[in-house]
Amino acid sequence: MTTFWIDRGHDGPARTGHLRIGDSEIRTPSLISPLETEHGITYYGSLGHDETAAKPSFIALSRRWEQPRSLLHDENLILLPSMISGGILSASVGSILLSKQLEFLKDNSDTLNPTRAIVRIDSFTDPDSIASYLDSFGSLGVRIAAFAFDGVLAPSDYRNVILRSQLPRNWAALALGRIEPPLVAPLHYFGFDLFDIGRAFEAAAQRKRLMFLDTERITPDVAPRYCSCSACSAHPSLLGLAFDSLQDTLIQHNIGVYRMALSESVQLQQENRLRWKIESTTHSSPAMASFMRKIDRAAYSYLEEYTPNNCRHTMVLIGPESYHAPTIRRFRENIVERFSPPTHKQLVLLLPCSARKPYSSSKSHRRFIRTIESTIGSVRHRVAETILTSPLGVIPRELERVFPAAHYDIPVTGDWDSEEIEIAATALEHHMNKFGDDVVIVAHVNGGYLDIVRSAEDRIRQSIIYTSPEQPVTRRESLAALADVLLDMTEILAIDDEKRTELDDHLRAIADFQFGLGAGQLLIPDEARLGGKLYHTVTCRVNKEQVCAFVASIGSISLTLAGGQLLAPLNRYWVRFAGRELKGSSIFAVGIEDADPGVRPGDEVIVLSQDDVVVGVGRSEMSGQEMCEFEKGHAVSLRHKSEVNK
Ligand SMILES: [Zn+2]
Repeated sequence: MTTFWIDRGHDGPARTGHLRIGDSEIRTPSLISPLETEHGITYYGSLGHDETAAKPSFIALSRRWEQPRSLLHDENLILLPSMISGGILSASVGSILLSKQLEFLKDNSDTLNPTRAIVRIDSFTDPDSIASYLDSFGSLGVRIAAFAFDGVLAPSDYRNVILRSQLPRNWAALALGRIEPPLVAPLHYFGFDLFDIGRAFEAAAQRKRLMFLDTERITPDVAPRYCSCSACSAHPSLLGLAFDSLQDTLIQHNIGVYRMALSESVQLQQENRLRWKIESTTHSSPAMASFMRKIDRAAYSYLEEYTPNNCRHTMVLIGPESYHAPTIRRFRENIVERFSPPTHKQLVLLLPCSARKPYSSSKSHRRFIRTIESTIGSVRHRVAETILTSPLGVIPRELERVFPAAHYDIPVTGDWDSEEIEIAATALEHHMNKFGDDVVIVAHVNGGYLDIVRSAEDRIRQSIIYTSPEQPVTRRESLAALADVLLDMTEILAIDDEKRTELDDHLRAIADFQFGLGAGQLLIPDEARLGGKLYHTVTCRVNKEQVCAFVASIGSISLTLAGGQLLAPLNRYWVRFAGRELKGSSIFAVGIEDADPGVRPGDEVIVLSQDDVVVGVGRSEMSGQEMCEFEKGHAVSLRHKSEVNK
């Protein structure tokens, strides 16, 4: 029996986990080698691959397996046989390879334990055709699939990532082939758990030392570079070593480099900074930049499913590689789908973003707010303050505290490239479609922000007043121009002197954004009593019972059981508990019967009993689909649960 399960803490598809094969357990991500080593690296055997053949042969698939049984040790993983350069045969070769491996596994089940088998998926396989094969392998107990990379981020590497996204969530993925150390972190991010380090041995045989950025060939005429690793520092003069000793040193060095690469990747994943790290490598590698852009677009739903909805770090977004990152695109799409301006908004005030987040704590926004309060303060709730920024697009003031609006860092120069301007102009167009024709837009922007508004102008129905397009918006004259325009608007804004509704507007907008449209009205009904301060903690009580609290520092709403009950009719962000009584502070995946496929790691979720009664609320630790597919692992950290569940 082979079982794979994961720990808490996704960063995109990247994860840490455990692979239990029989009695042994491998922590993942892990290095793995086709050569038996003395270096504590997990070994995998390879069928059809003998010492003399350079590549696994096709013949091994078509006749009954006659490998010496000594190849198989109980604890070993076995990579199923392959064929030479599949793609040159035909596009259907991927399916043929899968069916041959399946046949092979069934024919040899007396000598080859299927739960130790690793199925190979050829890069030419049609992604739409593999599901039924994977089902068949899965029912035999197979839990690992291998993909062979050529390491240069060519089309076959791209296809491998797309194919990997089709694996069942409770399988581990092995990256085979030419995996140079710099490729370890990106492949980890794309969801690979095991990394073949055959390259460490191959390079050593070629007298090469792998480094983080390049490779060094040890030749008699050039002094070797300085390396502080234990293998190299034991031999200050590599050149003087006999061939065997040099080999041994280079192998140890090369494996050490892989270990460092993997260790760094795991650390970054646990800090939610792996995506940032990979984005930053695109600045020195055009191949990686185009690879990332293609995968961001083609595999968005795969990357997004595992991208957490919160982050402890400021997200650094420096270049185009971030424009379509899952967190960013999801935010833009959620703003379109989940933000619905209250009907009492009569004026949309467009403002530039600020380096300091949340915006309202910045110097520039404090000036804007002072100007608004001193001119039309009593009717400020009728103004839809909207911040323009890249690459998030538009951010309603109500949502400036949510993730990632309050957690990103960009160079705020106001010089946007044409793609950024188009992204923000499109976002502005969608935003303005939500307002009536008689709403007036006041654009208090200049520079690149002005370019955004001008670019969207033709696509916007409402009329736009520019306050001070020629000069910086925080200048005294510009602020005076803003004050004049706002005073002119007093008549439009002051329909009657009802009470200000900022607190309600903010909390409802945040609830809609977090849980989906309609959540605000369910969770904060008209009779709700709100307490606290907008930019600190806001609590909401209904019938004297607390239903939720918004904590500004984390930018999200947490529910009480009563809040969970109010929100349940929305039919979103739920998980169904399979047991009778919630015990302890967590629910494990085995205890989840079903879950909303829209749940992402880090989401606030409602726990339902099998009779659809709300029995708990908490935070998800994995995606909803993972909760359904994994047999082990932390699924939900509970915040509140019912005392007695019947
Ligand atoms: Zn070294």
